[in-house]
Amino acid sequence: KNLLEIKDLHVNVEDKEILHGVNLEVGKDEVHVLMGPNGTGKSTLGYAITGHPKYAITSGQIFFDGEDITEMPVNERAKKGIFLSFQNPLEVPGVTLSAFIRNALEQKTGKRVRLWDFKKKLTETMKLLSMDESYAERDLNVGFSGGEKKKAEILQMLMLEPKLAILDETDSGLDVDAVRTVSKGIQLYKEKCKGSLLIITHSTRILESLHVDVTHVMDEGKVVKNGDASLVDEINENGFEEFEQ
Ligand code: ADP
Ligand code: MG
Ligand code: MG
Repeated sequence: KNLLEIKDLHVNVEDKEILHGVNLEVGKDEVHVLMGPNGTGKSTLGYAITGHPKYAITSGQIFFDGEDITEMPVNERAKKGIFLSFQNPLEVPGVTLSAFIRNALEQKTGKRVRLWDFKKKLTETMKLLSMDESYAERDLNVGFSGGEKKKAEILQMLMLEPKLAILDETDSGLDVDAVRTVSKGIQLYKEKCKGSLLIITHSTRILESLHVDVTHVMDEGKVVKNGDASLVDEINENGFEEFEQ
């Protein structure tokens, strides 16, 4: 049984159809890469999977863990274990990084999270990501550099332990060290959580130390090609032209 199954998904953003019938499957404990030219709907697909209200599903279905989640609200999907790391993480003044993650964890589990245990795990995980401890008590993403925002996303992923993590260009704009750190975080997630990943990226640097199971190529609101890891290299050599409709 697949973890994620998307069937003929059509999605509108502000009454304009952006996804024109996407089909995509992600198995358990698998690493998938989603590539495609700018503006083809990769981020839109990510938002539609997580249930962002601005992305209206007009037809088709999304199944997660065997359950039809097409109509399920965003917070319910998060509870089921779907996580999206944003291409452009939002700044949230007045909510610390620590409080934000603890709240998300409590929302997800429906239980109170004991502060002592939480802080311990948070500090350990931040250390692994080479994040200074002081960031935990800073307002979420406010004044964070691009790299720090992306690290904060990876930190959330490691703390929330989702079944499916969608990473939307988490590696874009990062320096070599930050890419390595993010990559380490992703590996840690694979080892610890045995979750699945859908990695939206234009770069191969983040994939270097990961085993990629499946590569999907999107063009103009559709998945136009599925392949193995070698498809990533093929695209890097020849571009997207051969896949264009
Ligand atoms: P990609 O991530 O592949 O670059 P996007 O999913 O961001 O592509 O965008 C696909 C198309 O949908 C683009 O034409 C974009 O302008 C449009 N779009 C995406 N999100 C919105 C939005 N919130 N409001 C208006 N148009 C949007
Ligand atoms: Mg995008
Ligand atoms: Mg085209």
